[in-house]
Amino acid sequence: MDILVTGGTGYIGSHTCVELLQAGHKVIIVDNLSNSRADVVDKLRTITGLTPVFYKADVENRAALREIFAAHRPEAVIHFAGLKAVGESCRLPLKYYRCNLDATLSLLEVMEEFGCKRLVFSSSATVYGPDNPVPYTESMPARVATNPYGWTKIMIEQILRDHTAADPAFSAVLLRYFNPIGAHTSGLLGDDPNGIPNNLMPYISRVAAGKLPHLTVFGDDYPTPDGTGLRDYLHVVDLAKGHLKALEYAAQHTGAEAFNLGTGRGVSVLELVHTFEKVNGVPVPYVIGPRRDGDLACCWANAEKAARLLGWTAEMTLEDMCRDSWNFVKNA
Ligand code: NAD
Ligand code: UDP
Repeated sequence: MDILVTGGTGYIGSHTCVELLQAGHKVIIVDNLSNSRADVVDKLRTITGLTPVFYKADVENRAALREIFAAHRPEAVIHFAGLKAVGESCRLPLKYYRCNLDATLSLLEVMEEFGCKRLVFSSSATVYGPDNPVPYTESMPARVATNPYGWTKIMIEQILRDHTAADPAFSAVLLRYFNPIGAHTSGLLGDDPNGIPNNLMPYISRVAAGKLPHLTVFGDDYPTPDGTGLRDYLHVVDLAKGHLKALEYAAQHTGAEAFNLGTGRGVSVLELVHTFEKVNGVPVPYVIGPRRDGDLACCWANAEKAARLLGWTAEMTLEDMCRDSWNFVKNA
């Protein structure tokens, strides 16, 4: 199948491109490189022996998208492109609403023009907001976010529900990711944020590499077994594979359907730190600091729906995630 991948040189997109290429799909990447590098395309070739088509273009740019659709007539789209930094979205909300909503609207309009009816969208566990109890299930209300980034995900989910209601031939799979970490086993692809990382695993890796002095654990007084926050970490390669299952689902169904992609297990900050140290034999010095504003104590998935309807479950362990994250950083 010919599949257009927006944001395909990014962290999750690049791992998904590996799986798509290895499964025999033709991959057309559209990325403006605002948060990734063009050499990812060479790395995809090194890993798979196959070359994706790459366009440096902004998904908000309808004229550019039209040309790409006219040239390739993709049967399906996986839409990763968007801005994703929670803190930045609080400082620059207009930028986030403009980029994430415009990109999606442009994409949907051009898909409509070219009769492309299948979309897999990168949503997030953040749509469950602060009020639902864990574990989150897809039937829970997902209508309140705690920051502009989260609101863009809620809004885009709603746009996709409205669009599929208006076009009964359209299929949208909303994948609500939990916390992807880890990297490709080749060590060539991984999460490499610019500047000081916001997320836990890239921070741990940089501390382990001696590039940052210590990790600050944001709070040890949460109502959890060791007092630190619980998250549902899953390996990015498992997550990537979920997109192939979602494409199969989209080929057989119409309408908008949401799926959690997580392991179904909550892991604490300290459990992740200690697992990383043990698996990789490197120390990760840390200090306990205050809670981070807006953080939830706990966030993990009920992962049954994806298992039942997509035939997808996360298979890789926390040890795999820690080993592969470190393998990527120490090779960088
Ligand atoms: P990423 O920043 O590594 O990848 C996003 C890619 O999109 C980047 O390569 C960037 O250059 C590109 N991009 C951004 N805006 C664009 C635009 N307007 N036009 C073209 N390209 C554009 O992020 P990621 O971690 O791979 O996340 C992918 C998607 O998954 C995002 O939508 C994100 O919100 C969502 N998500 C990520 C996580 C996570 O923890 N990483 C969790 C939940 C949801
Ligand atoms: N965290 C931490 N120190 C850091 C970064 C994160 O203690 O430098 C904690 C954070 O409070 C949360 C967990 O690690 O409990 C995961 O945070 P991350 O930002 O990676 O994901 P999110 O909170 O968005 O799910």
